[in-house]
Amino acid sequence: MNTKYDVVIIGAGPAGLYTSIILKKGTPMQVPNEPIKVAVVEAAKIGGLTQYAFIQITKKWAFSGNTLINTLYNEAVEGKVDFFKKTVVRKIKREKNGYFQLITNKETITAKYVVIATGILTFPTVLDTPKKTNIGLHTPEEMAKEVSNDYGWKNILVVGSNEHSIKNLSNRLKALKIFNQVDYEALSSQMTIEDRCYGLSKEKINAYDGILFDYNSYKLQNGSTYFLHDLNILQKNGFIKTNKFGETIVPGLFAVGSVTKPISGVPQAIYSGQVTGLYIGHLLEKTTIADPSGRFPFLPREENWKESFQHELEIEDS
Ligand SMILES: Cc1cc2nc3c(=O)[nH]c(=O)nc-3n(C[C@H](O)[C@H](O)[C@H](O)COP(=O)(O)OP(=O)(O)OC[C@H]3O[C@@H](n4cnc5c(N)ncnc54)[C@H](O)[C@@H]3O)c2cc1C
Repeated sequence: MNTKYDVVIIGAGPAGLYTSIILKKGTPMQVPNEPIKVAVVEAAKIGGLTQYAFIQITKKWAFSGNTLINTLYNEAVEGKVDFFKKTVVRKIKREKNGYFQLITNKETITAKYVVIATGILTFPTVLDTPKKTNIGLHTPEEMAKEVSNDYGWKNILVVGSNEHSIKNLSNRLKALKIFNQVDYEALSSQMTIEDRCYGLSKEKINAYDGILFDYNSYKLQNGSTYFLHDLNILQKNGFIKTNKFGETIVPGLFAVGSVTKPISGVPQAIYSGQVTGLYIGHLLEKTTIADPSGRFPFLPREENWKESFQHELEIEDS
C-alpha cells in the first residue's frame, strides 16, 4: 500500500470515517483524474465507540450505531479510501518540508494534512468483553444493578481517567449495597491501546469479577491523546483545541469528533468531519473549485470559502 498521502485520518469512528468520505466523494472541487489520496489509520476495530452504541436521539427513538458505521465504512471503501487496520499511531512528527510523519507500530506514513479523530478512549474494544468489563454511561447505578444480576459480579473495580470522578462513582456504587467490594483505580494517561490489559495488570483484572469504566471520567480527562503531548495542541484536560474548521495551532494538523469536545455525540462527530473534510478539500484544490448550489451556507463558495462559511446565520437584533 502507498504510504504517502494528501490526508491521513487517525481513527475510524464516525468522525474519521465521515471526514474521509467527504474528501474522497463529497469534495465538490475534486479533479476527477487526480483524486485526493486519503487514508484512515485504525488501531482497534473500524467504528470506534459507535459500534457499541445505540444512537439515542429522543426518548422514543434510537438506532443501531453499527448500522451507521457499516454504511459509512462501505461509502469510504467505495470511495477508495485506504485503510491501515490494526495500526496504532504512536507519534506524529512534523518535517521541515511541512509534511507529517506518522510513526506507527507498523510502517511510517507520510501526509500533507493530518486529522486526529481518536475519540476519548484508546481501547474501545474493551467493550468486546461484556462479561468482564462494562461502561457506565449516564445511569451507572442501573448498569451496576444489571451486571450484578446478569453476570453475578460481586467484586468490582471502577476505572477511568479522572480520580475525582471514579472515587465519586465507587462511593455511589458502594451505597447500593449490591457488591461485596468496590475499589477504584485511575488509569495512567500513558496507557496505550497496545496494552491488552487496558492499563491494568493481569493480576488486578483477575482479582475482580468485573471492571466498570467510568464514562463520565473520560469527559473530564481525554484518554486517547497521550501520544500528542509534545505537539502542544492539548488543553489541560487532554482534549484538542481547534477553531471552527477543526484546525489546531499546528498548520496542517486538524482534529474532529469527540477528541475535541468532552460533551459530544455521533451527530456532532459527523458534522465536524464534514466541515473539516470540506475545508481540507478546499485547501488541496483551491483553483478547481466547482460552483456548488449555494443552497447551504456551510458549503464552499468559489474562492472565498473561509469567509463565506457560516456555522450559524447571523441575525441582527432589531
Ligand atoms: C455505550 C455507548 C453508548 C453511546 N450512546 C450514544 C448515543 O446514544 N448518542 C450519541 O450521539 N452518542 C453516543 N455515544 C457516544 C459516541 O459513541 C461518541 O460520541 C462517538 O463515537 C465519537 O466519535 P469519534 O469518531 O469522535 O470517536 P470514536 O468513535 O471514539 O473513534 C475513535 C477511534 O480512534 C481509534 N484510535 C484511538 N487512538 C488511536 C491511535 N493512537 N491510533 C490509531 N487509532 C486510534 C480508536 O480505536 C477508535 O476506533 C455512546 C457511546 C457509548 C460507549
